[in-house]
Amino acid sequence: MMKYLFSLLLIFSLVIQSCSPEVQDTLIGAKIYEHNGPYKQLFEQWKQMGINTGFCSQELISDPEFMKEAREHKISTFVIFPVFFNAEVLDKSPDLSAINRNGEAAAEEWVEFICPSREGYRQQMVDHARNLVREHQPDGISIDFIRHFVYWEKVYPDRDPASLPVSCFDSVCLNHFQAETGISIPDELSRTTKQADWILNNHEDAWTTWRCQLITSMVEEIADAAREEKPDILVNVHLVPWAKADFNGAIKKVAGQDIRALAQISDYLSPMTYAHMVKQAPSWVHHIVEDVYMQTGGVILPSIQVGKAYLDTEFDLEEFRLTLEAALEAPSSGVVVWSWERLIAEPEKADLFKDIVKAL
Ligand SMILES: [Zn+2]
Repeated sequence: MMKYLFSLLLIFSLVIQSCSPEVQDTLIGAKIYEHNGPYKQLFEQWKQMGINTGFCSQELISDPEFMKEAREHKISTFVIFPVFFNAEVLDKSPDLSAINRNGEAAAEEWVEFICPSREGYRQQMVDHARNLVREHQPDGISIDFIRHFVYWEKVYPDRDPASLPVSCFDSVCLNHFQAETGISIPDELSRTTKQADWILNNHEDAWTTWRCQLITSMVEEIADAAREEKPDILVNVHLVPWAKADFNGAIKKVAGQDIRALAQISDYLSPMTYAHMVKQAPSWVHHIVEDVYMQTGGVILPSIQVGKAYLDTEFDLEEFRLTLEAALEAPSSGVVVWSWERLIAEPEKADLFKDIVKAL
């Protein structure tokens, strides 16, 4: 009798196991910005392709139909949340701009950044994150443009580190820096260029630490607000794809991303490893993942490009395959494609993506 009961229990537990939702060890994500057409079809296609997570624009997250279909199809949703890139706000309030070491607005082509010291703007971002999470209950928040000004998309391997931009040298940052570190810029230096040079020549470490803290604290404030609204919300941070030593430590000195500190307050770190765009080989994606992992022990989700961007050089199927395979190599915890729109625009890459993901 006991033996019979035991066998029954065993069968029962096996049935339960096979009915439980799929275990999603590997996060397979797609950044999606807009979508015309039925969401049901979209998510059915994602299921077929093995995509289990959407990194979605605020517009999509705010659409109840999108969220309903995502839930029904068991697709996790992260809202992409840009912080210090905000063209709309800068158009109206150019005085909020970050300032470079020449005393000018930090800007290059479409890239322009808000000074990260402005309390009003920071609070506005925190409130906005809180409202988004409260109203739409996404599974995660994916914090983007969370760095100091730098147009890293056009920083190639041969770039002279000294030519990379350092900001922000407006009066708000300079006052906060002095008040919080006890360092005093000599009075006789009145021009921004002279003040910036003096800081970088005499107190570069303190300046870098202080600038990183501006970014770390912003992530912390946004993550805290999001978690107050939804305690189990997942927090992802988009990283500039630079290893610790690249460009003379520019990940901290230029971008202001202290990835060890960021790993402590987030669930995922997502380096934007768009290899083709920055003239790197596919294997570089794995190199960056490994570097970030070695520094943080965190959960690393490399994001990879699908289509051509910035450069006109051919980005063929084979290069895409090698890039995707490099992105999935341990210690990576998955991959996020940038973007869904670009993936379906190239059916051969979409098929290849499906084949590789389904074989995992
Ligand atoms: Zn500033």
